[in-house]
Amino acid sequence: MEMNKLKKILLRRYWPINLKIDRLKITNLKKTAFIFYIILICLGSINKSYSQVPIDVGDPPNNTDIPGYFKSRLIDIENELAEIKKGIVEIVATSPGGLPVYAVYYGEKDNLHSQANYNSAVAAKNPAFYAKKSSSTKPVVFFIGPVHGQEVEGIVGLVNLIHVAETGLDYRGKGWNSLKGKLEKCRIIIIPCANPDGRKRCPYDSFMGLHENMVTKYGQGTRKDGSMWGWPLAKSNHPMKGDVGILGSYYNDDGINIMQDEFFNPMAKETKAILEIARTEAPDITVSLHSHETPPAIYNPEYTAWFIKDRVFNLEKRLNSRYKIEKLSYTPDDLLQVPKKEDEKFPPQTSFNLVCALHHISGTMAFVFECNDGTISDRIPKSFVTYENILDIELILYDEMLDYALKERLLWD
Ligand SMILES: [Zn+2]
Repeated sequence: MEMNKLKKILLRRYWPINLKIDRLKITNLKKTAFIFYIILICLGSINKSYSQVPIDVGDPPNNTDIPGYFKSRLIDIENELAEIKKGIVEIVATSPGGLPVYAVYYGEKDNLHSQANYNSAVAAKNPAFYAKKSSSTKPVVFFIGPVHGQEVEGIVGLVNLIHVAETGLDYRGKGWNSLKGKLEKCRIIIIPCANPDGRKRCPYDSFMGLHENMVTKYGQGTRKDGSMWGWPLAKSNHPMKGDVGILGSYYNDDGINIMQDEFFNPMAKETKAILEIARTEAPDITVSLHSHETPPAIYNPEYTAWFIKDRVFNLEKRLNSRYKIEKLSYTPDDLLQVPKKEDEKFPPQTSFNLVCALHHISGTMAFVFECNDGTISDRIPKSFVTYENILDIELILYDEMLDYALKERLLWD
């Protein structure tokens, strides 16, 4: 696609059942019903890790060409975690839909000698009162998989990242020795999917080549009359309850969009778990993985310290250059997001979202990354990316983040 056309597109874009069996007096009829019921439960639990909502009649079917390495389903996460030997796996929350939210840890946690919470430490004029980060402690890097369940590319990336940490290879068999070496020098926390309820409700395992309306429909959901909530009105009703036809994968089963939770009193256990990891781990750098229809991009958080915005912008430039070198989709230099002030005039247009909260609870250099989802539209007649590109885009982001954490580290001691 020619650069001017791409710029135009980008410019437009920037705006249990407790069964006490022995107490049941089961007649033959009841026995049959009971067995049938158990079969249904088993089928339900077998299916629990897969995409579940049926695709509406008239909407395109799931792609049949999704390669084996494109591991975007909840069952792919379960399978990967079952094979982990070097890392430690924890369930950090249970979703309203009863699904586990996993975190995987690599590298021993250093003692950061915390004696105050972050904002109090800053008020005491030294963040080291919250976390003493010295050359003898490892950088801490926090990867947060999709909070928006339809943005499956982050799951693909993080399942492959775990595989790299375990074996040095991604699921194509491609070696990532340098990335593996960097992982081994850091404390790593990976949440492969922060919103399993949302992912479970997404019927597509990739949106490659599909119209972007499918992401809007199943991602942000519909009203009872079938009309799509769309962006930004998908955030106008929160929790998303009431006038809901399809509850979008944006939300957990309680209708909470983790990205825009109430951070001083979180509504979702998933949000609480993410914030608690940041609070106790003091990550140097944190990414919240998302996807959109335009080329891959880091989004600088709105309400964070200026030096963090500056650092995020530096990383954005480095990553974009790397994508150019690797001949992957990238953003034209003059459209990179230069740091800007928070709302200067009424009415406010920028929000204090998850990544801002993560910064203010831990000092972390937090940002959103938007991968490309491969969708098409009238504006984008052909996908920017292939399945291979998506995996490379994700793994190169992680490599650049680790590089930045190791080489550009801020020491607090
Ligand atoms: Zn998103």
